[in-house]
Amino acid sequence: MPLAESLLQWATISIHGCAKMQEPSPSTKSIQQSSPPDMVTGIRYRYRSIRTPRARAILRIQHEAARAIRQFLDEAGFVELLAPIIGPVTDPGIRGAAAVPIKFNGEVFTLMTSMILYKQMVMATLPRIYSFSPCVRLEPTASRGTGRHLAEFYQVDLEVARASCEQVMDVGDALLVQVLQAVRKECEPQLELLGRTLPLFSGSFPRVTFAEVVEMLRDEGIVLDSRRELPWKAEQILSQRFETPFWITEYPTGSRGFYYLTDPERPSLLRSFDFILPEGYGEIASGGEREHTLKGVIGKMHRTREKPAKYKWYIDMLREGIPPSAGFGIGLERLTRYLCGVPHIWECSPFPKVPGVI
Ligand code: AMP
Ligand code: MG
Repeated sequence: MPLAESLLQWATISIHGCAKMQEPSPSTKSIQQSSPPDMVTGIRYRYRSIRTPRARAILRIQHEAARAIRQFLDEAGFVELLAPIIGPVTDPGIRGAAAVPIKFNGEVFTLMTSMILYKQMVMATLPRIYSFSPCVRLEPTASRGTGRHLAEFYQVDLEVARASCEQVMDVGDALLVQVLQAVRKECEPQLELLGRTLPLFSGSFPRVTFAEVVEMLRDEGIVLDSRRELPWKAEQILSQRFETPFWITEYPTGSRGFYYLTDPERPSLLRSFDFILPEGYGEIASGGEREHTLKGVIGKMHRTREKPAKYKWYIDMLREGIPPSAGFGIGLERLTRYLCGVPHIWECSPFPKVPGVI
């Protein structure tokens, strides 16, 4: 049997002999460009799919993005913090996903779905922090087809004491611009292999209100419940309409978790935003100003049917007082997906867990 026919998909071959150096011909490029592997096979045989030049290029780009993020935040005076992995409570605002409970010291703890409550705790001691924080969310099986849901992912989670939404959105603008520049500069061969041309942006990205978004979508024939989060489909359509990343601001009160601040001047609105990527890649970050008063949090917990008793340490902390703050969490694999231009997020995790894929 000829050698090529006996090879398994993603097999590695070693060739022994004497190499004669030759200039690559123009046709070499087309051989080098890679196409996305099948997701189910790629995950099941990850120990093979990870060996490909394509997987190597994606992981190399992810590393460069992480390096650029650290460099940017360190230079901006942020302190990197080790993120919690388990805790007595975690972020309840996870849109239909489930948290994973575990037993610890005879109590029920949970794996972090996000470290938001713990970021607030640190504001009293370090006013500018970030973490590469692991998050576990058992997303519904239907999210398998969105191309952007993993059950285990990392957030670059940052928080700034006494900051406004506008100030942290400025940080997000500059951070994304710097990451794009670094990846374009340092990862040219990897981008070429993936067939990805990254746009070059500068300055700040557009900020549109949730109400404006509802209007835009109405023009597309999509009618939204203006008190709820954007459905995935609607968000994707919006994302396809924009040519640059953009922010959606002023989410309606009641659409999000208890830790978002209600606009003091306009109680129907939250001081909360999303950061959306163009080309259909969709949401990359959510954040806002935090509700940090005991009264405000208890009031919101009643509305979202959370039991304050479950959040004992958090409530005790608020009773003693914490500084106001604002921040956001960027999904690192979603950022990688955009940078690499790959169709499904599974390729952006070295050890992917996708809801509904065994
Ligand atoms: P959230 O607070 O739920 O908006 O999460 C913050 C960010 O984490 C999102 O904007 C995404 O970039 C990322 N993220 C959230 N859920 C997932 C998921 N299931 N898989 C991958 N990334 C996620
Ligand atoms: Mg979100």
